Amino acid sequence: MRTPVIAGNWKLFKKRAEARELVNGLVSLVKDVQGVEIVVAPVFTVLAAVKGALDGSAIKLAGQDCFWEEEGAYTGEISPGMLVDAGCSHVIIGHSERRQYFGETDETVNRKIKAALKAGLAAIACIGESLAEREAGTTFDVLRTQLNGGLAGLSADDLKDVIIAYEPVWAIGTGKTATDAQAQEAHAFIRGVVSELLGKPAAEAVRILYGGSVKPENIKGLMTQPDIDGALVGGASLKADSFAAIASFS
Ligand code: PEP
Repeated sequence: MRTPVIAGNWKLFKKRAEARELVNGLVSLVKDVQGVEIVVAPVFTVLAAVKGALDGSAIKLAGQDCFWEEEGAYTGEISPGMLVDAGCSHVIIGHSERRQYFGETDETVNRKIKAALKAGLAAIACIGESLAEREAGTTFDVLRTQLNGGLAGLSADDLKDVIIAYEPVWAIGTGKTATDAQAQEAHAFIRGVVSELLGKPAAEAVRILYGGSVKPENIKGLMTQPDIDGALVGGASLKADSFAAIASFS
């Protein structure tokens, strides 16, 4: 049994007062939700405020990125240990926006995943094809390359602390969701590649989240697919009622 994960990526939104308001609303709306791991990923500057507002709640805290070194002369970076120190249990790594705007590669994703695991964080590792790649029929090649690179050198045991997020780039923030069948096809493919890389038990245990314009209206259909274990939610995680409705999918 894979426990579903619903994770909210707040991207570059929410200052402290807004963040507290969102979390306070969320905490009360999801207090009776059971059997789902709920995670929120705010910007670094509000981690402490959100941690404080989460006090006593089962909702977990994530960073949106981390560096691979623990400390040193790396101006502007945040280390995995610093995220742990700020109360995080999770970190998003390799989001397509980081790949697109900040030069993230499969190699840097791999270094970051390893550093996150070493510090005791669970890594939410993002992969996904662009529209051009889907239209060119190379989706599976892209996913295989991203998995080979991102998971290089990891063991089946390491994978226990990795959550894979399949986020087709053409569906992120566009309002276009992959159909349930398109998402399932990609998730089944990803699980197959993980099985080739790290064995069947590891592949059967790893949670694979779908991300890309997830809303209260489409979460149920996605969650009925056998290989979809949750969602990474952007826009709809910025409002307590919509994120709570997604987390209450069952
Ligand atoms: C995301 O940021 O990971 C995401 C999936 O965004 P949205 O839900 O807005 O498409």
